[in-house]
Amino acid sequence: MAEGTSSRSSKLIHGGLRYLEQFQIGLVWESLRERELLFRIAPDLVKRQKFFIPVYGRTSRGPRVIKAGLLMYAVLAGGRKNTWFKTVPKSEWDQLDGLNQAGIKRVLQYVDGQTDDAGLTRAIMQSAQDLGADLFYPARFVSAEIGNDEVKVAFQLAGNSLATRVKAVVNAAGPWANQVLGHFKPKVEPLAVENVQGTHVEFPGVITRGCYYVEAEDKRVVFVMPWQDRTMVGTTEAPFQGNPDEVTPLDSEVQYLRDTYQKHFPDRDHTILNQWAGLRVLPVATGAAFKRSRETQLPVDNPSRPRVLSIYGGKLTGYRATAQKIMKILSRTLPRVTPVAKTSELPLEDPGALS
Ligand SMILES: Cc1cc2nc3c(=O)[nH]c(=O)nc-3n(C[C@H](O)[C@H](O)[C@H](O)COP(=O)(O)OP(=O)(O)OC[C@H]3O[C@@H](n4cnc5c(N)ncnc54)[C@H](O)[C@@H]3O)c2cc1C
Repeated sequence: MAEGTSSRSSKLIHGGLRYLEQFQIGLVWESLRERELLFRIAPDLVKRQKFFIPVYGRTSRGPRVIKAGLLMYAVLAGGRKNTWFKTVPKSEWDQLDGLNQAGIKRVLQYVDGQTDDAGLTRAIMQSAQDLGADLFYPARFVSAEIGNDEVKVAFQLAGNSLATRVKAVVNAAGPWANQVLGHFKPKVEPLAVENVQGTHVEFPGVITRGCYYVEAEDKRVVFVMPWQDRTMVGTTEAPFQGNPDEVTPLDSEVQYLRDTYQKHFPDRDHTILNQWAGLRVLPVATGAAFKRSRETQLPVDNPSRPRVLSIYGGKLTGYRATAQKIMKILSRTLPRVTPVAKTSELPLEDPGALS
């Protein structure tokens, strides 16, 4: 729980400004709606954060393009005043954490969210438990047998082999989803996906004004973010094949992130304190990873009576929207129940540890 991809994400609760460039409007709208909702129900866990975009003469995205994107971003977020972007006056540029000002034409500022992924996950699990959910943790799925009315699931809990019978199974194993599906009888067809690794690097000293949205040499966007008492820089996109347990940052990724940080913040300390990589699960397609759809895929074993649903891809930000879609799909199989709460209104607080 909160150990896989979620712990290796950029920890942003955001619409994904850059997805507008690929016209993933539905995804951005849904994510911004969830962001606004989380600002409301989880104010201690999802914080409003200023994001600065330095626009240099040499950047591929000019001020007009970026402003058009930010305007659309604000509109998709509901258009309220606290979603608007602004231009940072030149007189304030030297307060921007040592941002390289050489060649800057303009600095734009907008708002997005930042979270602590482990705290958010704990809060959601605690909330579910408070409403009557049973949590077995840390448990290991072993195998499943799909019967006529039920699925028999074998799992391990604290070294003990246990089994349970359920109406439906949600396979939420992230990049391990197809490994998990390999242990179902009868066989459930896996979705053809590619794992693409993304690395983050941590540097000494925390930046204090907010996050920075900077352009790397290859025109990709890289975030420079405060993270605890350090500055975190990410991310990359490198194809990954192999066991998801073994993903580690490549030297070339670390160098790329360090170069990008050094170029934009030349006077900060560039000693690498920590580095880690996670895997994005993307649909198989040709072309650059950063242009592929980030929509969550939710295939089932049998569309008319789904018993096994797998989650591929998506975003931490959209966890609640994804859960709603899953419940709608599984309503074809699950008994009809009266909802006990509205997750769009339930406050979320990090319990620190789960009860
Ligand atoms: C580099 C990177 C940056 C990202 N940044 C962001 C961001 O800033 N904002 C955002 O919204 N999204 C971001 N994402 C996407 C986001 O991280 C993922 O969509 C999200 O974390 C997926 O969560 P998950 O629970 O589905 O998968 P995971 O977090 O990977 O969880 C799957 C879990 O299943 C467990 N598991 C595997 N096999 C078994 C088994 N047999 N039995 C029991 N458990 C098992 C694993 O141990 C793991 O803990 C990013 C992704 C990457 C790779």
